[in-house]
Amino acid sequence: MNPSHPTTENRIGSAISIEQHISGPHWEPPTIPNATTYWRCTSCHRESTREQDLHRERFHAPDCEVWP
Ligand SMILES: [Zn+2]
Repeated sequence: MNPSHPTTENRIGSAISIEQHISGPHWEPPTIPNATTYWRCTSCHRESTREQDLHRERFHAPDCEVWP
């Protein structure tokens, strides 16, 4: 009846893009048995072995500046 959720998702053209905060791929040292590559968000410092994870909002910390 009474819409109380105003849509404020008009952030197209934001100055910050996720690509600017993706660091990688990084290679783990070969001394690690199952060495792999990983990517890191330079804002919230979370890491993943799959770059596509970095493009998901839920992957990042609540205060990550990539997703204001
Ligand atoms: Zn982040």
